[in-house]
Amino acid sequence: MNYRGPYRVRLDRKPVPVCEHVQDAVIRVTRTCICGSDLHLYHGMVPDTRVGMTFGHEFIGVVEETGSGVNNLAVGDHVIVPFNIACGKCHFCKQGLFGNCHESNAQATAVGAIYGYSHTAGGYDGGQAEYVRVPYADVGPCKIPPTMDLDDAVLLTDVVPTGYQAAEMGGIKQGDTVVVFGAGPVGIMAARSAWLFGAGRVIVIDHVEYRLDFARRYCPAEVYNFRSIEDPVVFLKKTTDSLGPDVCIDAVGGDAAGNALHTLMGTKLKLEGGSAIALHWAINAVKKGGTVSIVGVYGPTGNMIPIGNVVNKGITVRANQASVKRLLPKLIDHIEAGRLNPKELITHKVPLEEIADAYHIFSAKLDGCIKPVLVP
Ligand code: NAD
Ligand code: ZN
Repeated sequence: MNYRGPYRVRLDRKPVPVCEHVQDAVIRVTRTCICGSDLHLYHGMVPDTRVGMTFGHEFIGVVEETGSGVNNLAVGDHVIVPFNIACGKCHFCKQGLFGNCHESNAQATAVGAIYGYSHTAGGYDGGQAEYVRVPYADVGPCKIPPTMDLDDAVLLTDVVPTGYQAAEMGGIKQGDTVVVFGAGPVGIMAARSAWLFGAGRVIVIDHVEYRLDFARRYCPAEVYNFRSIEDPVVFLKKTTDSLGPDVCIDAVGGDAAGNALHTLMGTKLKLEGGSAIALHWAINAVKKGGTVSIVGVYGPTGNMIPIGNVVNKGITVRANQASVKRLLPKLIDHIEAGRLNPKELITHKVPLEEIADAYHIFSAKLDGCIKPVLVP
């Protein structure tokens, strides 16, 4: 695909990538998804998103070529490629913080590099394509277990680890009440994962009815449409004996659609870094001493959070990009044991040629879309 400007993407011919470095591999893509994070790019919210970039950080594929310095992969291997581009050797990678790699992004103080995610995240072309160049190929890619469905495998590149890490960062204790803001693929996976950590009650909040229906059945969760609640914070206090939930998860992030919501809700919080309305609700609703776990993506600056409430309530706030590689072995186990079945999230599976339509449907939340997968 080829980014042409906000709300405009199209399919184009580009040269097939080659190994540019001894540690590179070239992968032939077999499945790729559109993510809520791609929508921030699509909505023009991410700084230095250049016309001509190929998006796509969720893809699996077959190794076509390897550089002379690659030892862990062979031509023909079918691999899951984590969305984080990580060197595996720096201060952060050594601690399993693969999303914070210090080497892969020339702007090392920012996020580690991510495929197809603007020049602020390294400027690498992504996998919404037939072929993609994979740097540090010995570090990220992981062979797909022979019995695993490819539709499950592609969701291990991001959605499953991100949802799982959201629950993990919540520090959920046995019997906790966990509230997830956002019933997109990430929020749904976070709610589903909350049970694995011992949650006693799981509530999902959104305003897209079909997504709430899906979450009710799949997670399973109590679901609430915030358009029908006067104030979600008041509501959440009421339903938890006025204490507030133990853990709130932000699986929304800030984006253009979020800013539009502020208008809808009559608030005046339009922010450069994207709306933070779900994060406000999370911080204001959570129990004193509780935890707010943030996986929603925000612009690096220009956000505003009610930090006074964080201090006064003694809230723990945890946030990060998911560290996909660290979580893969555990998540493969959960899938093989039937405790997680991510492929049920896939509502649309279409040829890569239909990418522009798929972006539109996923962005506008049309046609019952939870997760679209593209097949080159
Ligand atoms: P999505 O766009 O499909 O889902 C977001 C959902 O949030 C939508 O259903 C929307 O209706 C809902 N929503 C909007 N405002 C809300 C509000 N105020 N309260 C409750 N719900 C609200 O996106 P997704 O793929 O599920 O991704 C969710 C977020 O996670 C995005 O910000 C994405 O960038 C981020 N993300 C982070 C990581 C990471 O590693 N940290 C990885 C993947 C995605
Ligand atoms: Zn993603």
